Amino acid sequence: MDRTEQHVAEGSALESALRQLDDAAGVMELDPGVHEVLAHPRRALEVAIPVKMDDGTIRVFTGYRVHHNTSRGPSKGGIRYHPSVTLDEVKALAMWMTWKCAVVGIPFGGAKGGVIVEPGKLSKGELQRMTRRYAYEILPLIGPERDIPAPDLGTNEQIMAWIMDTYSTREGYSVPGVVTGKPLSIGGSAGRSMATARGVMYVTLATLKHLGMSVEEARIVVQGFGNVGGGTVELLYQQGCRIVGVSDVQGGVYNPDGLNPQGLRAHEEQYGTIAGYEGGQRVTNEELLELGCDVLIPAAIEGQLTRANADRVKASVIVEAANGPTVPEADEIFEDRGILVVPDILANAGGVTVSYFEWVQDIQAYYWSEDEVNDRLRQIMEKSYVDVLSVAEERKVSMRTAATILGVGRVAEAHITRGLYP
Ligand code: NAD
Repeated sequence: MDRTEQHVAEGSALESALRQLDDAAGVMELDPGVHEVLAHPRRALEVAIPVKMDDGTIRVFTGYRVHHNTSRGPSKGGIRYHPSVTLDEVKALAMWMTWKCAVVGIPFGGAKGGVIVEPGKLSKGELQRMTRRYAYEILPLIGPERDIPAPDLGTNEQIMAWIMDTYSTREGYSVPGVVTGKPLSIGGSAGRSMATARGVMYVTLATLKHLGMSVEEARIVVQGFGNVGGGTVELLYQQGCRIVGVSDVQGGVYNPDGLNPQGLRAHEEQYGTIAGYEGGQRVTNEELLELGCDVLIPAAIEGQLTRANADRVKASVIVEAANGPTVPEADEIFEDRGILVVPDILANAGGVTVSYFEWVQDIQAYYWSEDEVNDRLRQIMEKSYVDVLSVAEERKVSMRTAATILGVGRVAEAHITRGLYP
């Protein structure tokens, strides 16, 4: 589709997201008008965030909040704190959130937020002041019936608590449903912190089963050891998988006989990184992606699997725990090589699914047990996996195109049913 109205940086996550939309729209013969509506975010806000630093100087950070689509309900999506955040990236992530919520059938649209900042370089006080001012600046866009943020790269439950408090202070009463991924003490959900990783585990197990591969013999490599990567390593290890490689931003470690998550965690607690862990051989992040293994799980940032390294990936399955880790050119290479890619909008949907449970619990002020949360999550992930696989088999397309067709189809149906305003 010729998109002269929208300037998109070459090689950006937005370019990937738009190409994936175009691929799905082509297969499903989507109405061109609806296609064009879905290619644009509904609204995008850029804010300046002035913060008084500990040394008395003032620094101004730039932040964004983007609503991609709200046809199926309030918009939902994380907030990212990272130095490489751009408006295009936030738009892409918001679009993926729209498809993701539709793929797992939860009544939300897609949104995303971001601040250009390296959170590790701020003191706790600076981080709190920056978060509260950012929350204040995006207040017109958020709310439990409007748009509900959650954690993403570089943010955590403490940051969600500050946003919840800032919003509630303005309203004059507690509004727990304005964010998800909160601490339990203020209306968080049991099971939320491990939910994305647990969803990744469910789809990894479903994929192994589908391909007739044994769980005990599966060799797994995970890039990223944060909320998602670290949790995935632990849960798959508990299932009996062999974790042969893991990395974080500072580098990785490889051991063909298997790594112990507890040892990795202890090393990270002591040194702030898993790089240098003595239970294996040191590898770079580039080498990690090309290690011999059965399942590769990118769980860090986007754009990791590209034309430059896709030919050298040895895994037979890629489960995308991160958002957008595979660029479209690499997708084509994987398809040619018969490598199965379980796409992000399915694989990492466990987080937003339990975020939905958290929002439901907050609204009802009635809280569920962790077993209930995990069981409902498992049912949704397993059903969604089967739904996507069925579309892939019926249409003879990749799992990514199938998931996008499923998501886009549900959003398009809602959009058409509601009609175009005015
Ligand atoms: P996090 O900040 O907790 O952890 C990120 C991890 O990636 C860290 O170990 C960090 O060291 C590593 N990393 C950062 N930059 C890297 C680089 N250039 N190379 C290698 N490793 C690098 O973040 P998270 O919440 O675990 O999110 C990870 C990914 O999962 C992101 O793509 C995010 O959008 C996606 N995701 C997160 C959630 C969630 O619930 N947190 C839900 C869905 C998707």
